[in-house]
Amino acid sequence: MHHHRREPCQRILVLLGLIAVSGCDGLLQSSDSPGGARSASGSCTQCSSGWLDGSALLTPVNREQGLRSDYEPTDLVTLPASVALGSQRLRKAAADALVSLLKAAYHELGADLYCASSYRSFATQCTLFASYAARDGCDEANTYSAQAGRSEHQLGTVCDLADATGEFLPGENALDEYLARRAPELGFVMSYPPGTSDVTGYISEPWHFRYLGRKAAAQLRERELAEGRRLSTHEFLRDLSEEERAALEEEGAGGGTTPADDCGGVSLKGYCWADGKHLTYCKNGKLVDLACSGENVCRPRQGSVDDFDCLPPPADGGSCGPVTAKGFCSADRSHLTFCKEGALKTIACSGENVCQPREGTTDDFDCLPAR
Ligand SMILES: [Zn+2]
Repeated sequence: MHHHRREPCQRILVLLGLIAVSGCDGLLQSSDSPGGARSASGSCTQCSSGWLDGSALLTPVNREQGLRSDYEPTDLVTLPASVALGSQRLRKAAADALVSLLKAAYHELGADLYCASSYRSFATQCTLFASYAARDGCDEANTYSAQAGRSEHQLGTVCDLADATGEFLPGENALDEYLARRAPELGFVMSYPPGTSDVTGYISEPWHFRYLGRKAAAQLRERELAEGRRLSTHEFLRDLSEEERAALEEEGAGGGTTPADDCGGVSLKGYCWADGKHLTYCKNGKLVDLACSGENVCRPRQGSVDDFDCLPPPADGGSCGPVTAKGFCSADRSHLTFCKEGALKTIACSGENVCQPREGTTDDFDCLPAR
């Protein structure tokens, strides 16, 4: 293993020997442009001390602290094709959580999302930065490219999310709000949310999600809500004490999670898929997907609006159970569920709108400006 890991350092050094790399600091850029690194001596290699091993989930990776060029995760797995554009690899825990997140986004919001960019080796980024620097000069290259070793993608716990056409998430919409709330429940956070450029030195990246583990992600989200602002991974990790970091790391690595945590907020009552033929629920701390057999459809049990099961279709042929076209609001008033053409629909309220009764009614709900 060791002789193999050393090899990228040699290759990178030779490649960059051709290029003068200096004076590249301080410009605002996207962390996502494949980049190269630069040591004090001006070469693109740094296998020695001072650079970090990235195996800890909470390893800080930013403009001040970077990963060793020979660090690569040992537990990378290939994502299922159903959630990836091209071949994408993540560390096992991050891959499992990402599949849960993208499934949830699909079933709960109807959002069809994919991982468009995931693990990137130091060598890949370094080589690409070298080509940019050779073409445009180092200063210019640094306006659109991060340095290798400084990218969270080398951790193997980051995905850039995109739609089916490969377009990165634009942010500033209902999906953005949904992910800000839901992703942390499954262990992911947005590393460079709006309003954090001054701290991170990178532009806002509403597509770039990093797995920190559920406990750490939930803690970051709690801080956001308490402080009324978005928080970068850079700032969150910087502010943790060594003791806090160690405790959260243990949780994220799998020690100490309670079984209920593994369902990411999904209850035993579960939810129906958009196709009306599948049910997802939490059993013994694990998410279970169930295909309804025969003629059965997923719908609420008699007398309930949120306790789902695979049941014979109702006499009227629909699958709305007792839910009417007037619908009902989610507890946090961010979503509206109603019956349309015999099927349950759930929509997320956009922008400033919240789910509430229409003017003059108490039971006819819609997404409306807050009153
Ligand atoms: Zn990214």
